[in-house]
Amino acid sequence: MASAFGHAAASLAFGSTGIVKRMQGKLMLMGMIVSILPDADSIGFKFGVPYDSFWGHRGFTHSIVFALILSIVLVFAFYRSQTSKEKTRIFIFLFLSCVSHAILDAMTTGGLGVAFFSPFNNQRYFFPFRPIKVSPISITTFFKGKGLAVIQSELVWIGLPSIALMIFSFIIRKGKKSTTEG
Ligand SMILES: [Zn+2]
Repeated sequence: MASAFGHAAASLAFGSTGIVKRMQGKLMLMGMIVSILPDADSIGFKFGVPYDSFWGHRGFTHSIVFALILSIVLVFAFYRSQTSKEKTRIFIFLFLSCVSHAILDAMTTGGLGVAFFSPFNNQRYFFPFRPIKVSPISITTFFKGKGLAVIQSELVWIGLPSIALMIFSFIIRKGKKSTTEG
């Protein structure tokens, strides 16, 4: 995993592009939770689930299919009454938040790769470019020192692109607003 902070930051950056509207704090929070949720599979380590198995860490919960199902379920559970346009927008945001987790994990320096195509194919993948230091799963280890190096690499490889995305979308939206206004 990248750290929970890194995943949540990516979701926040997507949300700030305007896909999450003002006053939709609940949706923004939901996106951040969804971005961290795939790592619930690390509980399997406690119960002897093998790392490289279907339910193992970075297995099915890190797949594209899981992100699709989770986003659809959440849209229908919480945003059923919205118009289809709104539902699509919310779905895209939640899907991006969830799938960004797997993408970031596939760019980390350690552990096994990510089962992007589970349940059809349980093979694990990494990207060729892996600059993000892998985060320890144990919170104690994270706060005992290793976490600092993780946070540093995430600031560079997740934080900076997130800020760039926020600034870029802010400029685009401002530009759009002034064209419609003037
Ligand atoms: Zn993960």
